[in-house]
Parts: sequence; structure tokens; C-alpha cells
Amino acid sequence: MDKINVLDFDIDQLKTVINELGEPDYRAKQVWEWVYNGAGRFDEMTNLPKSFRNLLNSRLYIGDIRIAEKLVSGRNGTVKYLLVLPDGKVIESVLMKYRYGNSACLSTQIGCRMGCRFCASAKLGIDRNLTAGEMMAQFIAMQKDCGERISRVVLMGIGEPFDNYDEVVRFMRRLNQKDTFGISYRRMTVSTCGLVPEINRFSCENMPVNLSISLHAPNDEIRRRIMPVAARYSIDKILSACNIYIRKTGRRVTFEYILIDGVNDRDEHAIELAERISGLLCHVNLIALNAVEGADYKRSGRERTEAFKDILERYGIPVTVRRELGDDISASCGQLRKKSIESDGMVD
Ligand code: SAH
Repeated sequence: MDKINVLDFDIDQLKTVINELGEPDYRAKQVWEWVYNGAGRFDEMTNLPKSFRNLLNSRLYIGDIRIAEKLVSGRNGTVKYLLVLPDGKVIESVLMKYRYGNSACLSTQIGCRMGCRFCASAKLGIDRNLTAGEMMAQFIAMQKDCGERISRVVLMGIGEPFDNYDEVVRFMRRLNQKDTFGISYRRMTVSTCGLVPEINRFSCENMPVNLSISLHAPNDEIRRRIMPVAARYSIDKILSACNIYIRKTGRRVTFEYILIDGVNDRDEHAIELAERISGLLCHVNLIALNAVEGADYKRSGRERTEAFKDILERYGIPVTVRRELGDDISASCGQLRKKSIESDGMVD
């Protein structure tokens, strides 16, 4: 029988297995506590009888994640982790330190199938989805390493969260539970390139999570040039899905918009964008493009960025320009994983 990762269980599933091993329910609670306090092996669980630990070892494993490499930004303490899963696959996560607390940027897939032209994660295609337990293991590994409470989670690492919908939702629910880390939904953010059916499904989950849409274009024509997914879902469809999300959750939606020189950053693009989204409970986050090998896009200059921002603001749309936290360690958006795989020859 294949062993199962305890981190993929909810407490009732764990109880069932533990009962099958001849032990009462409270043992499940003990195991659970150890696991969510960072125990990597059953042998560390010293309040359990040795014979029971052996039984646990025969049926289950703790899908612990190993930190293979850690890069700390010289500027602001942003940490990029190169993490290795039990099967040897590699992912990356980033810890960002803000005045209001620590925030973990987690991966949801090994690779990505969305193929956005400006993104480094897209270049290698998809390998597989991460399970909820593997996402949890990322969080636990970072939490252990960081030593301070991580109070926010953003699903903006490698992968398209809504292309791995069930496991992502399961993970967020578990992270919210009081007996794991009790992170409130309001401190979680899920970022999607705009998979409309899943946005609609997510509206019905009753989880007031922050929804972030990687829009990056004011119209479908430009969007299709830089994001293949735009051929499947139009901006109109995305905006009406967002409208439903806002109505159901009361949450403000964020539109991510990477400014790419000459592609989507002109005044007329700002006006077109503003006219389409004004009236929605939203916020625009302008992002400086990070250089990605092989793509010949350039970031917009500071003045262009300011001009774009001013136009949106004139329409009454709240705008921020994203702080760059980890560009000196290739931890910024779109830069994850590829480099490490290439330099270490760790292609899966
Ligand atoms: N697949 C999800 C989440 C991962 S990407 C999504 O598309 O939203 C997280 C954010 O980084 C997205 O807004 C994405 O568009 C942005 N990003 C990707 N490549 C980038 C680059 N080269 N420079 C700046 N931002 C980038």
C-alpha cells in the first residue's frame, strides 16, 4: 500500500486511519498537533508509544519539505526559498517582510500551463499540481525557518491556483482552521490569470479571500498577444465574474497590471482600462515588469508609470504601484524556479 501524506488529511480522515491502527481518537489530535508544530518525523512525537509510532510509519509519512537553498535580499530581508518535495521536485516560495507582518508567497503547481509571454514560470510548462498537503508543507517549512509568525498568505508563486482548484481551496480552508494556523480568509490572496468558471465557483465557497486578477491589458486584442488564456475568456466575462465575486463576498477585487513599454502602457490604454472597470469595487496594482530571459519586453519608465496612474486616479480608481521586494535575488514575480532548475540541472 502506498503511504499517505498526513498533511493531506483532515482530522476526521486521520482519526479513521488511527482507529484502524487500533488507537483512540485522541491520538489523532496528538499527531495533528505535532505535525502543525512542524514535526518532520513520527519519531519526534515523544508522547506517543514507540510501537504506535512504528505503526504510523508503516502507513503514513509527513510530507516534509526540505529547504535546498535560501537567498536573502540585501535590501529588505525578502527571502526566497528553493524547496525540494519528497519526490525530488523543486518549487519556490518567497517570504516578504512588511511593517504589518510576514507574508508568504506560495506556489500551487510545479510549473504552469498558462504560457503568459512575460512570465518565467511559464517557460517550462506544467509538471503536476501540488496537493493541499504540499502547499501546507511549504508554509510549515517557511514558518519554521522564519521563526516569527507568518500572518498572510498570497498564492502568487509558481502555477495558476485555479488550474488546481480543489486542492487550493482545501489548502486555504485548512490554513484557516484554528487547530492549524488560524489565518483569516481576509489575510489570504488568490491570484488568477482569469479562469472564469473557477472564479464563479469560488464566489460560492463562502470564503472572503482577496481575489487578484492578472489583467495586464485594457482589451482582448492586446491581452491575447501576451496571455494565451485570453483566447478562452474575454475581459468582459472576467469582469462580470468579478462583479459576482464582489457582490457575494463584499471584497474589493485587485487588478494586477504589468506595465510593458509600448505594449499596454499608453494613455489610451489607461483610459480604456479606466472606462471598463470604473464603478467596480476594485483597486489596480501597477507592476514594473521584471526582466525575463528570452522575452523582449521592456518595463515602462517612471514617468510613463506615473502618467498611467494619474489617468486611473482621475477616474476615481484606487491605484498602487507595487513595491519591488526581491529583484536582486530573482524572487520577483515571474522569475521563480526556472533559474534554479537551469543552473542546477534539476530538470524534472
Ligand atoms: N497564475 C497566477 C499567479 C502567479 S503570477 C496569476 O496569473 O495571477 C503572480 C503575478 O506575477 C501575476 O500578476 C503575474 O502576472 C505577475 N508576473 C508574472 N511575470 C511577471 C514579470 N516578468 N514581471 C512582473 N510581474 C510578473
